Amino acid sequence: MYYFDYQEPVFRPPSEAQSLIFQITIGCSQNHCKFCGMYKMKHFHLRSVSDIAADINAVPESHRGYYRRIFLADGDALIYPQEELLQILELLNNSFPLLNRVGIYASPHSLTTKTRGSWNSSKKKTAYSLFRPGKWRPRYSGAGP
Ligand code: SF4
Repeated sequence: MYYFDYQEPVFRPPSEAQSLIFQITIGCSQNHCKFCGMYKMKHFHLRSVSDIAADINAVPESHRGYYRRIFLADGDALIYPQEELLQILELLNNSFPLLNRVGIYASPHSLTTKTRGSWNSSKKKTAYSLFRPGKWRPRYSGAGP
């Protein structure tokens, strides 16, 4: 069995109940919405790509074929810098042979930091689902390149 060193609490949309969750950020980059207490107890920061790679490597090879969906936490994790986020997606694509969907929370602000064309460096066709924090329905589902 493998365990990730999650910094609790970890939230995910109900539709991600079967997904393997990797925490690529801690907390929410916004964290000022008065109606939301989800991440108030956390100081926002990015986890390093090497720490995330260590989490991925902790999943035994014999288990990797089971996972088709992965969710990247915490709140507004799309704020992760584009180049490093693409590295993480490549690691996931290379590590999970049946992976066909990666979900992530996205705020209007973090969406403005990314362009559709910037996803084109990934070779594998994996769908990326962006969830707006506080809403449980996918606001955008985009096929990978
Ligand atoms: S998770 Fe969403 S609603 Fe909560 S503080 Fe962050 S941006 Fe605001």
